[in-house]
Amino acid sequence: MQQSDEGRERLRRLRDEIKERIDYRSFYLRYCRPANEQASQARFQALCPVPSHNHSGRGNPSLSIDLGRGLFHCFSRDEGGDVFRFYELMHDVSFGRAINDLARELRIEDSSKQLPLRFRAAPDAEATQQSGQTYEPLDAERMGRVCEMFLEVCREEEQAEGINYLQRRGIDSRTIKRAGITYYPRRAYRRIMRRMNESFALDELQRSGLFNSREHLTFYRHRLLFPFVVENRVIYMQARTTAAGVEPRWHNLRGGVPALYNVDALAKLASNSIVYLVEGFTDTLTLAAHGFAAVGLVGAGGLREDWLPKLARFQICLALDPDEAGRRAARRYREMFVSRKMEVACLQLSGDVNEFFRHRPSAALEFALLTEAAMEKREIEVRSQKSE
Ligand SMILES: [Zn+2]
Repeated sequence: MQQSDEGRERLRRLRDEIKERIDYRSFYLRYCRPANEQASQARFQALCPVPSHNHSGRGNPSLSIDLGRGLFHCFSRDEGGDVFRFYELMHDVSFGRAINDLARELRIEDSSKQLPLRFRAAPDAEATQQSGQTYEPLDAERMGRVCEMFLEVCREEEQAEGINYLQRRGIDSRTIKRAGITYYPRRAYRRIMRRMNESFALDELQRSGLFNSREHLTFYRHRLLFPFVVENRVIYMQARTTAAGVEPRWHNLRGGVPALYNVDALAKLASNSIVYLVEGFTDTLTLAAHGFAAVGLVGAGGLREDWLPKLARFQICLALDPDEAGRRAARRYREMFVSRKMEVACLQLSGDVNEFFRHRPSAALEFALLTEAAMEKREIEVRSQKSE
C-alpha cells in the first residue's frame, strides 16, 4: 500500500513537471500535420493518427488540437484528453509508462529516485540548522498538541509489535498503558505523515522537529514512542529504536529533554517515600512495573538543577548503571543533592536495573533489601560527618 501510494505521488509530481516544460506544438507535430496552415496558432485540425481508431486516412480531418491547453479531441471517435493520453494511445502504453518516457525525453530528473525515503525522513543535521535553516522553537502549548496528536494517530495503527518488545523486557501491559507508550509502525509512515499534515501547519511541524526541512516526518527508524507527561499533559516525546544496529538509538523532538521521565508518578506519592533515580525508560518502567517509584534520566545531558525541587520531599536512591559513566554521574548528582540538603543514597547493582529484575526470581525483595542497606549506610555516613 505504501509503495503504491508513493508511486502515485511520484507520477503526479512528474506529470506536473512535464506539463510545465513540454512544448505542445512540437509534441503534437511529431504525430500529425495541420490540415490547413491557419493564422491562429492556438488550434489546428489534422487527420487523426491514433492507431486504434482505424481511420481510413481519407475523409475530413477529425482531430482537433488545442495548443494553448495541450488537449486533443477526435470528433470521429469522440475520444480526447491531454498529452499523456495521446502518448498512451499512440504507443499503446500505460499512463505510468507515458509519464516516464516523456520525463526522460525532457530530461526531468526524478528526485524521489535519487533519494530513498530513509534519507528524506532523516532529521535535519545540526549543520543544516546552522547554515540558515533555523527554526524558532515551538511554544510549550503547541509542542504538547503536536505530541498528543502524533501519539493519537500512531495509536490507531497496530501496536502489538511494540507491546511484545517491552513485554519481552519484563514490562507488563498495564505499565505500558499507564506510561502511554506508543508504537509507530513504519509501514504507516505515509498515512501518519498525511494525518499530521492535515492537522498542523507545516511550519509548526518543522519547528517541533517532527518534520524536517524536506517536509518529511522524521520519525522513521525509531518506533517506540515515550511521552513525557507533566501535570497530566504530554509536553515532549522521545523515540527509541527496537532494532539492533540503528545509531543513534534515540530520536527526539527539537530542544532538550524538558523533565525527568515519569515525574508525574510522584504527584500522588507520600512525602518521605523512596524515589529511585535511574537511567533510561526501560529501567524506570521496570521499577514502576514492580511497584517502586522511579524517575528516569534519558537521552544526552544529565540531571538539571531545576528538576530537583520536585524531588525535595522524597528520599532519593540513585540506581545508575554500574559503568564508569554511571559512577561518575552518581558522584556528581550526589553532590547536587547534598548541596541542597537533600538525602540521597546510592545503590550498586551488578548490572542495570532491568537486568537485575530479569535474572532474579525474587528481584523485588532483593532490591528492597539492597535499598534498605544503602539507606542505612548513608545514615551512618551522615552521622559520622556530624560528629567530626
Ligand atoms: Zn481518431
